[in-house]
Amino acid sequence: MTELLATYNAWIARVPATKLSTFDCPCCAESVQTLRPPKGQTWDSLTICPHCESMCFKVAHDDGRVDAYVPETAS
Ligand SMILES: [Zn+2]
Repeated sequence: MTELLATYNAWIARVPATKLSTFDCPCCAESVQTLRPPKGQTWDSLTICPHCESMCFKVAHDDGRVDAYVPETAS
């Protein structure tokens, strides 16, 4: 297990399940859990997948939906 995955697992274990949303990593298709924003808010951020350590962009919605995709590389 990578250090990143161990850190992620330790963090997930401390967060109540009701505060989490789940999405599939766009790179490796593993399930990843993330904090669900409060009602009326949408959070977007770059994130590192704890499974494959690829970077993706995620948009977490207050209803539990999470859009995750690989950002376009700047050229
Ligand atoms: Zn991944």
